[in-house]
Amino acid sequence: MTLLEIEDLTVTYRTGGGPVPAVRGVSLSLDAGQKLGLAGESGCGKSTVALALLRLLPPTATLGGRILFEGEDVLTMSWGRLRAVRWAGTSIVFQGAMHSLNPVHRIGAQIAEPILLHERVTQAVADRRVDELLTQVGLPPERAQAYPHELSGGQRQRVMIAMALACNPRLIVADEPTTALDVMVQAQILRLIEDLVRDSDISLMMISHDLAVLAGTCDRLAVMYAGRVVEEGPARQVFESGRHPYSSALSDAFPRIGDPASRLRPRGLAGDPPDPADLPSGCSFHPRCPSARDICDDIDPQLWPAGEATRAACVLVLPDQGEGLLAPAEEVAR
Ligand code: ADP
Ligand code: MG
Repeated sequence: MTLLEIEDLTVTYRTGGGPVPAVRGVSLSLDAGQKLGLAGESGCGKSTVALALLRLLPPTATLGGRILFEGEDVLTMSWGRLRAVRWAGTSIVFQGAMHSLNPVHRIGAQIAEPILLHERVTQAVADRRVDELLTQVGLPPERAQAYPHELSGGQRQRVMIAMALACNPRLIVADEPTTALDVMVQAQILRLIEDLVRDSDISLMMISHDLAVLAGTCDRLAVMYAGRVVEEGPARQVFESGRHPYSSALSDAFPRIGDPASRLRPRGLAGDPPDPADLPSGCSFHPRCPSARDICDDIDPQLWPAGEATRAACVLVLPDQGEGLLAPAEEVAR
């Protein structure tokens, strides 16, 4: 069953310097129980997609397209419905747990708050649920009495995950949930998220710049570049044999799972993703692409079938590798 269907999502931020098209036509879908990884360097639009899912974007953002959650369009639903979806439908775990927790309230009370508010249960029932949730995320229930500053970064991120689980959501969006943590703690938190969602019917959208991390946790991967999905397919396949040169570059930039040697020879990608307000002509990736050809500054490729259950937006995946396609982007799109 399809839980989430993102159709041609566009997000443009209004700024003093002009419009910033941060997301440019993203379509993705997620089945119940499926784990989808969203990869890409900083600035590619990943968080903008995540925030759009719950309409958490600032008022300067203009949205287009549709985001169907269980068939209902999040972008047009009433505030009442949206509030319900925000608690029991989708919950988001952000990167910086310290900023999301209230420093003057005990963590148990903070985890209990949405339960009391949205499930209208007694304090005793909510407290019991807090105990369960803390245990589930690997913290002793006594920690309910602690204040945020008494916890380590990893423990605070566990609290955030407990809060995300509090109202039994059907989708958890984890936006770089471990990026702010030490490497050892990162691994523990990732294992916790994996354990919580494995074999459960909770769907996961995990966002990271690290393809290796995503490949270890997710069924499918979508790679974003300059506001677009440039490749989407089975996680292992995208990670190990990406069809888009950007996927391969991202995959080479990080150590392979279970291969410590690759840590010693990471092949980085020079430069940065383009400013969305000043995109290069043709394929946005062509100025950094090791496989770029003459036609790549003319053709802005759309997603094309690129093997088993995979799509990639690159002329190299075309049967004739783009020969005879020196046509405007619209023609390529067909
Ligand atoms: P990611 O999560 O992949 O790093 P973001 O979604 O945060 O990417 O950002 C995508 C682009 O949108 C970036 O160029 C960023 O500078 C821009 N952006 C993000 N938020 C805003 C905002 N509130 N106003 C203007 N531009 C923004
Ligand atoms: Mg981000």
